[in-house]
Amino acid sequence: MTVAAVLDATSPVKTEIRRLIRIAGPMPVSQYMELCLSHPQHGYYATRDPLGQAGDFTTAPEISQMFGELIGLWAASVWQSMGTPNRICLVELGPGRGTMMADILRAAKILPAFDEAISVHLVETSPALRERQREKLSDAGKSIVWDDRLDNVPKIPSIYFANEFFDALPVRQAIKHGNAWHERTVEIGTGDKLQFGCAPDPLTAFEETIPFDARLAPEGSIFEWRSPYSALELGRRVSRHGAALVVDYGHTRSAVGDTFQAVRSHKFADPLASPGLADLTAHVDFEALADAISSMGARAEKPLDQGTFLKRLGIATRATALKANTDASGAKAIDAALERLTAMEKTGMGHLFKVLGAAQKDLPALPGFDA
Ligand code: SAH
Repeated sequence: MTVAAVLDATSPVKTEIRRLIRIAGPMPVSQYMELCLSHPQHGYYATRDPLGQAGDFTTAPEISQMFGELIGLWAASVWQSMGTPNRICLVELGPGRGTMMADILRAAKILPAFDEAISVHLVETSPALRERQREKLSDAGKSIVWDDRLDNVPKIPSIYFANEFFDALPVRQAIKHGNAWHERTVEIGTGDKLQFGCAPDPLTAFEETIPFDARLAPEGSIFEWRSPYSALELGRRVSRHGAALVVDYGHTRSAVGDTFQAVRSHKFADPLASPGLADLTAHVDFEALADAISSMGARAEKPLDQGTFLKRLGIATRATALKANTDASGAKAIDAALERLTAMEKTGMGHLFKVLGAAQKDLPALPGFDA
């Protein structure tokens, strides 16, 4: 038996999920995802730093400092368009290792008055990652406040950032069956294995709440949606005083499709095989996100591909400047990172990842979205 197989067999989250299903019956996919990722003692994020080569996945700020630096310059420009307020809070949702915030703060020094105005709030539930963030930001020269939830962050003029945060929020799935939509569930199958199931009763009035193309979908189609709570809260805040930048993989139009996936050691895995031991995500529906944000009175810009956004912010110029200060192998690494972040083919990050900007209605178009 491999080490991974031993770990899988003894996963405390798997034991807990089986116990709950035996008591209460099959659970919605969203409850399964939430338990796997956020169980307070044994959840995936509670117990580990999943990022980097030795972890399960890598993110844009971990690939290159250019990503966070450009976002720092973006924030400086937004702050100017807000009328250079003398207090501005930078709030990051799900900051991982704190790398992006460190790069943002370093870039912010280019405008001393902006740097001076900044305070920092991080929204993070994982104790393990809070520790990484604390270390990473220890010499940033800012006092940092952590919160578990966005609701607890003070409502002061702020710029909000979220990279690969929304994809980690639990997703519900409905499956079309007998011309009605049913909640997709996780149940215990033969051999005690977890498997997908389908709730016997249809979801009430579901057809009226979903986009048109989902209504025409063939039998067996899956439609995914998230609680709009975080997006509504973000929209409510931004509509009063601020701006937000959300980067994630996803689709710009709501559509049917099963994107629930697990990643372990940089490879796709069966999402039901190792509860609590693999990263679970689902694509972000940017149309739903933008609708929720704008329903609260904020302006949501039309989402862009990450590649287009980074090019418009000047990633090529930044790469050239960094290459001027390094040797040949350093320059090669910078070129590789540039290519990886902006690659526009079907599986490239530049194309798969989308960027959504949002702001109070009286701000001019946000940088990058104004072309
Ligand atoms: N933004 C980082 C990390 C992405 S991983 C980067 O790009 O590298 C997802 C992050 O969101 C982790 O920090 C994880 O602990 C955090 N997270 C996941 N669910 C959360 C929740 N419900 N509330 C707050 N943080 C959460």
